[in-house]
Amino acid sequence: MSRRDELAANLAEVRERIHQACERAGRDHREVTLLAVTKTFPAQDVALLSDLGLTEFAENRDQEASRKTEEFARLRPDAHARWHMVGSVQRNKAKSVVTWADQVDAVDSTRLVDALAKANAGRDPLDVLLQVSIDGDPHRGGCPIPDLPDLADYVARTSELRLRGVMTVAPLGMSPEVAFRALQGAVTRLRDDHPTATVISAGMSGDLEDAIAHGSTCVRVGTALLGSRGLASP
Ligand SMILES: *Cc1c(COP(=O)(O)O)cnc(C)c1O
Repeated sequence: MSRRDELAANLAEVRERIHQACERAGRDHREVTLLAVTKTFPAQDVALLSDLGLTEFAENRDQEASRKTEEFARLRPDAHARWHMVGSVQRNKAKSVVTWADQVDAVDSTRLVDALAKANAGRDPLDVLLQVSIDGDPHRGGCPIPDLPDLADYVARTSELRLRGVMTVAPLGMSPEVAFRALQGAVTRLRDDHPTATVISAGMSGDLEDAIAHGSTCVRVGTALLGSRGLASP
């Protein structure tokens, strides 16, 4: 089977899972964006996914992403693609990240907001999501739910950034169902003050059904689309 056929078959399966989850939740499947997480996979795979109709791609490391986005642009100069940074951003990489990322999905501190704002000065506003830590574990990144309103207000006052919503990874050792329900509650409160923060990025290859049941508008899928990343890779 060619790589294109393999990706096409995986994509059909993921789309079917999204459709069924939406149907069970009584939602329109067009409310849920499929974000292809292409980390560790070559630009050629991004090109094939683009040929198959995907337009949203995500990376989690600045260096890998800078190279890959450039190569993709050479491979498919006329294709429309939006790139997301879903990994944690070191502040000294902010300058580089804003050159390739259309959206940063892992904003979790005012210091990172400041670094991104400074790096993005003079460009179109950068779309951002606040990364939410459901269990408040400080080691795994993300803003604890009680701190979310202040961080959202801070972003809203920053003209270089545009607050689009929230992103989370379900914590280890917590059922995804419980985690995504907690996120949905937090977002509902956030929208009172920030009505344009409509994106809920939640759900990956293993738990996208639970996330869709709890309002996810963006599922981030790597393995189920592209295959296993192997043991040595992040
Ligand atoms: C790698 C990654 C994903 C994709 O995970 P899969 O289980 O391979 O679908 C989603 N979100 C983030 C933040 C990631 O780093």
